[in-house]
Amino acid sequence: MHDPNCLFCKIIAGQIPSRKVYEDEQVFAFHDIHPWAPVHFLIVPKIHLASMASATPEHAGLLGHMLLLAPKLAMEQGCNPYPEGGYSIVVNTGAEGGQEVHHLHMHVIGGPRPWLRG
Ligand code: 5GP
Ligand code: ZN
Repeated sequence: MHDPNCLFCKIIAGQIPSRKVYEDEQVFAFHDIHPWAPVHFLIVPKIHLASMASATPEHAGLLGHMLLLAPKLAMEQGCNPYPEGGYSIVVNTGAEGGQEVHHLHMHVIGGPRPWLRG
């Protein structure tokens, strides 16, 4: 369930401090340490799942839960409403997909432009 060497498992366990956005039985959400935009937080499953490439049909409910949380938390964190506002929902996967932390995470990035990246 948990990888003792994983940065995000340590954040979920509170062993490394983070600025929490949301938590429930299945997921933890916290602000990215290097935000690209006025709003930039990560939603991660509490189980250690390395990437989207590791996901199986048994994770469908968890992934659906994460995806549906993103718009709700985005609004709470100050993103502007669709369609004039909005946000990017990004799941980097593997080295060539730009994934640096190998615990599945969904970036939610938004707020008024310009953004640093994206
Ligand atoms: P990736 O490139 O794997 O999709 O994204 C990893 C993200 O985790 C990066 O945006 C990076 O800024 C963020 N990050 C890395 N280490 C930490 C940390 O210790 N705390 C927090 N809050 N974010 C982190
Ligand atoms: Zn982990």
